[in-house]
Amino acid sequence: MRGTLYIMSGPSGTGKGTICRELVKTENMYLSVSSTTREKRAGETDGVTYNYTTDEHFEEMIKNGEMLEYARYDSHYYGTPRKHIEERLANGTDVMLEIEPQGAMQVKKIYPDAVMMFILPPSMWELKRRLSERGRESEEQIKERLKNARWEFSQAPYYNRIFINDDLHECVREIRRFIGETAQKRGFVEELLNEKY
Ligand code: 5GP
Repeated sequence: MRGTLYIMSGPSGTGKGTICRELVKTENMYLSVSSTTREKRAGETDGVTYNYTTDEHFEEMIKNGEMLEYARYDSHYYGTPRKHIEERLANGTDVMLEIEPQGAMQVKKIYPDAVMMFILPPSMWELKRRLSERGRESEEQIKERLKNARWEFSQAPYYNRIFINDDLHECVREIRRFIGETAQKRGFVEELLNEKY
């Protein structure tokens, strides 16, 4: 059976990165490593957090059809290299993409059976507090990310399931339950299709 493709989106500061890292600890799932042209932040590792590259190289990869999807965010390119995703799905491994909604919609066109999940913060105020507290972005960038968050919220209804990250552990538990149910039901569909009658 082919692997299932999961997509996780949600505005910057909702905790989706932490959630995805928690999920892959227990789920048998490959967390895709995106390419980006943004600069590496403290604590990030090239080839693990992202593959950091230049605008020229990124545009070359787009031209060569190497990107499954890509988007501009914060004046930088972000994208998912196609190769590793397709290989893993074909050999039965589930794959998780942590990407923003423009890219998610592109992926949905190519893989209509992708399972799309969206993470919301409990409030706009809390989102602002989390962004300010983590101290990664400048005031200006935080403003930009909050503005962007409002557009991202408007995309949430297009996703299969929306989660609210009020309490991280509870949210991860809920997502694990959802992934478990999805796998079980897809397995059942497979059984029905193979049933002799
Ligand atoms: P950050 O700069 O905070 O790491 O990421 C900014 C945004 O880009 C986040 O919403 C993140 O999910 C999104 N992102 C990361 N990788 C990709 C990707 O490969 N494609 C797309 N479309 N968005 C991505």
